[in-house]
Amino acid sequence: MDNKKAYRPKWDHYFMTMAMMIAQRSTCDRLLAGSVLVRDKRVIGTGYNGSPSGLDHCDDVGHLMHEGHCIRTLHSEENTVIQAAKLGIITEGSTLYTTYSPCYHCLKKMIAAGVKRIVVGQIYRDTRIFETCMKAGVQLEIHQPDTKWLDHLTELYQTAPREKLGDIKPGDAHVEDRTSSQTF
Ligand SMILES: [Zn+2]
Ligand SMILES: [Zn+2]
Repeated sequence: MDNKKAYRPKWDHYFMTMAMMIAQRSTCDRLLAGSVLVRDKRVIGTGYNGSPSGLDHCDDVGHLMHEGHCIRTLHSEENTVIQAAKLGIITEGSTLYTTYSPCYHCLKKMIAAGVKRIVVGQIYRDTRIFETCMKAGVQLEIHQPDTKWLDHLTELYQTAPREKLGDIKPGDAHVEDRTSSQTF
C-alpha cells in the first residue's frame, strides 16, 4: 500500500477548497459560485448560486432576467447565512470564504449578519465593496492559492477514489474506522 505523506492544508486553503467544490453544485451557469461560512474554524453554512429548494433551476428552464441580472437564483453568499439561520446558528463574528467577491446586495447581508472577515478567490465586477468593507470594519482579503496544496488535491482525486473503490468491501471494519475518525 502506498503510504504517501498527507499534505495538511492551512485553514484558509482548506475552506477555500470547499468553496470551490461547492460552486460545482450551482444551477445558474452565468456564474458558478460557492461560499462557506465559518465560525471558530467550524463550517456553519454552505451555499452555491441556485434557486430556493423546490423552485425551478436556470439550468432546466432558463434564466429569469431583470435589468441585466438573473434573479432566479439566490447567490452563494446569501445561501450560507440562510442555511445558518434555518438551522438556528449564530453568524456573528464569522468568516466568509467565497469563490468570487460578493455583489453589493450580498455584501450588505454579510455585514448585517455579523460577518467580520471575507476571503475571496477573485474579484468579481463591483470594486465598491472595498470601501464598504472598510467602513463596516470587515476585513476583505484576496486568497493566495497554495499551489502545492492544489497539486496534492489533483493527485489525490486522480488516484485515491480508484484505490479506495478497490480496497473497500461492504462490511469491512476499517471502512467504519475511516468515516468515524474525522478530525476537524
Ligand atoms: Zn440564472
Ligand atoms: Zn450576490
